[in-house]
Parts: sequence; C-alpha cells; structure tokens
Amino acid sequence: MANLDTLSARQVAAGIAAGDFSATEVARAALDAISARDGQTQAFLQVSEELALSAAAATDAARAAGQALAPLAGVPVAFKDNMNLLGTRTTCASRMLEPYESAYTATCVQRMLDAGVTPLGKLNMDEFAFGSTTDSSAFHPTNNPWDVARVPGGSSGGSAAAVAAGEVTIALGSDTGGSIRQPASLCGVVGMKPTYGAVSRYGVVAFGSSLDQVGPMGRRVEDVALAMNALTAGGHDRFDSTSQNCDQDYLAHLDDSIEGRRVGVIPALLQAEGLTPEVRAAMRQAADGLAAAGAVIVEVDLPNMANSIAAYYVLAPCEAFSNLARFDGVRYGYQEPGCATLAEQSSLSRAHGFGAEAKRRQMLGAYLLSSGIYERYYLAAQKVRTLITADYQRAFGQVDVILMPASPTVAWEHGAISDPAALYLADVFTISNNIAGNCGISVPVCLGADSGLPIGAQLQGPAFADAQLLTFARALERSCGMEGSVAPAFAGKGGELR
Ligand code: GLN
Repeated sequence: MANLDTLSARQVAAGIAAGDFSATEVARAALDAISARDGQTQAFLQVSEELALSAAAATDAARAAGQALAPLAGVPVAFKDNMNLLGTRTTCASRMLEPYESAYTATCVQRMLDAGVTPLGKLNMDEFAFGSTTDSSAFHPTNNPWDVARVPGGSSGGSAAAVAAGEVTIALGSDTGGSIRQPASLCGVVGMKPTYGAVSRYGVVAFGSSLDQVGPMGRRVEDVALAMNALTAGGHDRFDSTSQNCDQDYLAHLDDSIEGRRVGVIPALLQAEGLTPEVRAAMRQAADGLAAAGAVIVEVDLPNMANSIAAYYVLAPCEAFSNLARFDGVRYGYQEPGCATLAEQSSLSRAHGFGAEAKRRQMLGAYLLSSGIYERYYLAAQKVRTLITADYQRAFGQVDVILMPASPTVAWEHGAISDPAALYLADVFTISNNIAGNCGISVPVCLGADSGLPIGAQLQGPAFADAQLLTFARALERSCGMEGSVAPAFAGKGGELR
C-alpha cells in the first residue's frame, strides 16, 4: 500500500475510519519506522510501544463498535520529554530527572490522546530546554535527518527530527525563545508557537513561565492546524491560570485567500550580521510567493527588536533559576548518596545532576536577581519587554503578519559552535515573539542554494490571531512546494502499511 511517511494526519485517520488499514497496523508501521530510522536520528529518548499498541487497540475497538472516531484517531504522535505522560519517564534530557516517572499526564498530552492519537514516546531535547542544538541532552545528541553530521536545532530537536525523518506524523514541542520554530526551520518541517496562553502548560516542566508555550510540529500546515484543534479543545484549563479559551476550528479558514491582506517585512533585519545569503534569498522567495498569492508586502519596523536578546537572556535565566530551585535533591529525581547533611545533599545533587548549560543559566539567574543587581538588569529587561511589545502593537496596526527568518543560517555541524554567547545571538529572530506573547510559525520554503539544507520562513502574528497565522502559513506552503517532505535518506525506510 503506502508508506506511513507519505500520509497526512487526516489521511491516516480517514484510512482507519474507512477500514483501509487498522490503527494497530498504523501503530506497528510507526514502530517499524522508528526502529529503522531512529538509530540514525536518535530523536527518541523512550519509545512507548505498549502505550501505542493499547491506544491503537482502543481505536480499533471503537471503530468495530460503530462509534464515530476522534479527529486524530490512530495518528502517530510523540512528545518532547518535558511533558508528563503517565506510563513514561519525564527526564527533560537531564540526569537530574533521569529516573523520574510521570506522576500524571500533562493537559497538552491528554488533549492529543483525547483526539485519538497513538502515543509513540518521548523525544530528545536540550537539557531542561536550554539551548538550540539538542547537543546539551545528558543522554545523546540528536542528528538532523537532512545531514546526520549536523544538529537538528533545539531545544525541541528530537521533535523536529522525528517528524522530518517520518518517524511520527506530529510531535509536540515547547518554545520559550524559539525552540519549536528554529528546529522546524533547520529540519524542514512546520513548527508553530501558539500565542502565550493558547495551550495549557500544566504538566510541562517549567523553564520561563512568562515565555513558555507548547505547540505542534508536522510535515504539513494542515497537520499542525489539526493538532491546534486538539490542543485547544475544551478551552481554558483550570490547572493553568494563564490558559485562555482558544477552542475553535483552525481548519475552517486554512485555505482562505490572502488577496489584499498585508504582510510586513523588515528590510534592516535582513542585513543582520550572520544572516547567510541563502537564507536572505529564501526570505525573498517567501515574500514573492505570498505576493503572488495576492498579499501586499509592506515595510514595517520593530526598532527595539535588537535588544530582545539582551532582555531575554536576563528574563529567561531569572525565571529558570526560580523554577529549577525545586530540583533540590530531595523531592524529585537525582539524589546524591551518602551525604551527612541536607545542605550537602542538595548542593551535591545539583552539582552532579545538572549539566553545564543548566548550571550556567541558574547561576546567571541567581546573580541577576541578587540585591543591587536586580534593579540594573531584571528591571531594565522588563522595561525593554514593554517597548518590544509596543513595537509589535504598532506594526500589527499596519500588517496582519510579519515575515522573517527563523534562523540566520541552516543547520550547522555538531560542535561547530561552542561559545554559548554565539548560540544565544542566533536566537535573534525568534525571541521577541515570546517576549511579546505573540504567535509564530516556521514553514519550510526551500533547500538552500549553497548548502542544499532546508530553510524555513517565519511568520509572526498578533496574540490570539493563531487561525489567521495558519491561513498565511498555508498560503506560503502552497507557494513553496515543500509540503509533506521527508528527509530523503529516511523516506520509505520501514513504516510500510501493508
Ligand atoms: N535557544 C533559546 C534558549 O536557549 C530558546 C530555548 C527555548 O525556546 N526553550 O533559551
């Protein structure tokens, strides 16, 4: 019949409903694809075979009983390993949480399960989501399916790689400063960071609570829209006070025309240092594609965006420091053996449980929040946050969405960038969106003329205009012809539906 990696989420669910194949056959094909491909990508930290087969069996039983199937019935999905799922460990790719068994299921995961998905397991990430390479995972790196010598991006690198290699149809990631959009761009898949508050964070290990947002990744905008339906179904989650009711049908306007609608571009941004010519060319191609679909391209400015890195790398470590204080060597995860005092146990557990970047962020946060320092940095960063948010409000008075890269370069080789500050600077295009709480999405545009590696274009939209953002993303996808692409070295390897 077909290889699972050629099917959209809708086609998988429809095929099951029509009896072309069973959910169990789909689950076995997904497990087969994972065993054929994951040795190369190393996207997974745990494969939840039993959970997958029992969810698939429940889907098949529901169909046999004549019940209407859920919208994502039988669709293979996996989750970033900072999301709790009963029956799996939630490690955040850290020694600190290596033995930690999920005590309950996160709302975002539960809502995907309620939509009928088959859960295949947990995906690699940068330790506690600090990073943009996935190389800081305490367990192993993940490889970019387009070139396994290269990083998949991060911190949701396992999610992007699993989707790009066709191991799953949809993956969830989290995005505090770009961790969905940047790996999506580097792996040639669609990755959406919904508006802050659109998706519940309950049960997702916190990094920067005023910035964190969960979102879907897939090989098609339609798959991402379907996942948004699932993630927002039921509206506000009473377990996350910041969650809003964003329950709507994100498919309803997906194919609407963008004729006469306005797309902002920021010419000065394309002169940014470090932006490669092929990424610049891809942005021109994206703008031309949107213009050919009838959009009006308008120049806008976000004058304070240049300060977003400085503001983020104050705010995010401060929030991380306070969130990660709970890993004290007593309540969760790793506990240093043989300590004489509680203080010793706590400090040695932290010293040995956390990796270098997790320590760097927490020490930075501790320093920045200390008396006398706080006023100079944290307070100033909050003021910059207000200015950036105001910039966006002005810009979104003129345009519906803003187009820019998600990453200044294509994927780089493992270890090629070792200076943490150089990695931080590469977050220049994604961070301001989290600072303002807006929505953003990366859509694959082309393979770079020089590198042959995927390049995504990012669209950013105002808060709670997620459905409109998806309409523009779909128009961009239609104009680019990368829809549904699986990294060539992996396409068709295992995963045949018989
Ligand atoms: N690269 C950014 C950082 O290291 C973003 C991470 C994220 O979004 N989780 O903080």
